[in-house]
Amino acid sequence: SASANSPSSSSGEIIENVVIIGSGPAGYTAAIYAARANLKPVVFEGYQMGGVPGGQLMTTTEVENFPGFPEGITGPDLMERMRKQAERWGAELYPEDVESLSVKTAPFTVQSSERKVKCHSIIYATGATAKRLRLPREEEFWSRGISACAICDGASPLFKGQVLAVVGGGDTATEEALYLTKYARHVHLLVRRDQLRASKAMQDRVINNPNITVHYNTETVDVLSNTKGQMSGILLRRVDTGEETELEAKGLFYGIGHSPNSQLLEGQVELDSSGYVLVREGTSNTSVEGVFAAGDVQDHEWRQAVTAAGSGCMAALSAERYLTSNN
Ligand code: FAD
Repeated sequence: SASANSPSSSSGEIIENVVIIGSGPAGYTAAIYAARANLKPVVFEGYQMGGVPGGQLMTTTEVENFPGFPEGITGPDLMERMRKQAERWGAELYPEDVESLSVKTAPFTVQSSERKVKCHSIIYATGATAKRLRLPREEEFWSRGISACAICDGASPLFKGQVLAVVGGGDTATEEALYLTKYARHVHLLVRRDQLRASKAMQDRVINNPNITVHYNTETVDVLSNTKGQMSGILLRRVDTGEETELEAKGLFYGIGHSPNSQLLEGQVELDSSGYVLVREGTSNTSVEGVFAAGDVQDHEWRQAVTAAGSGCMAALSAERYLTSNN
């Protein structure tokens, strides 16, 4: 049976208390709590971004809204600190991708590229990936003009007081556009269809805002740069006529949605229609007892480092309770 202290073993087979999948703020926070509860968590950090653990914040520069860092902190620095804190309390970290898992019967099994682990509980914290347009010059201008998060980057000196553009026509894009009007000189909303998909209330707010211009039937083709190599504009194409135009803009924000990294749970745990893991409201409990979800993989609404960390804490405390009550 599960012990709340050390991994259990029967007939020589080790069964871990808890396996944590993911190394973003949710995964590491869960690891810190589970390790401090003496559960000896096993963490699969993932190998997705060329073997760099740490999740989405590894792709950004300054994080200005994580509490405790009044001067800001870089994403990689913040994640390295979380990682060290998990390690200090005894979390076992493996820089491997989980390739499959089975939660149909207990104990669960988790298979990575290097090892197979049996466990009594799982915390699933694999995050989400902002959808990208795959523009020809996207890599060159990522974080140097192109962003996928207005809340994160809107106030940065790169964009403040500038003309900016948001691509997308749904709730994410309209929200990003409205948010950016706080800082930008003007915001262009680039919509491929002939109408917005966002809720009526959001549509009204955007259309009635004098600081937002909506361009319908407009495809975003690429970003343009000036002689100093800085982003200076966007190449657009009319969907109906094929006519190409250049729009002056110092920033392009993607508001075309996120994909939750929930593939491994498909068919085993309830997901919503967009693929987010469904948790019982106010908890980290999935549809399978002993399987918990935390962070962006179960959150299509807030998607912040601090909310991901908060839900990682909830998941670890829930796992601890689950293990204790099933002891
Ligand atoms: P993630 O950070 O997405 O981490 C998921 C982890 O799971 C990754 O380590 C990945 O490798 C791992 N993983 C995935 N699949 C597997 C697998 N099969 N096996 C093992 N591991 C796996 N938020 C803020 O609060 N402030 C900001 O300033 C800010 N800036 C941002 C800037 C950018 C460019 C981006 C993209 C996001 C930003 N965010 C910011 C949002 C923030 O990064 C996310 O909300 C947060 O990282 C979500 O944490 P998470 O732990 O749920 O997942």
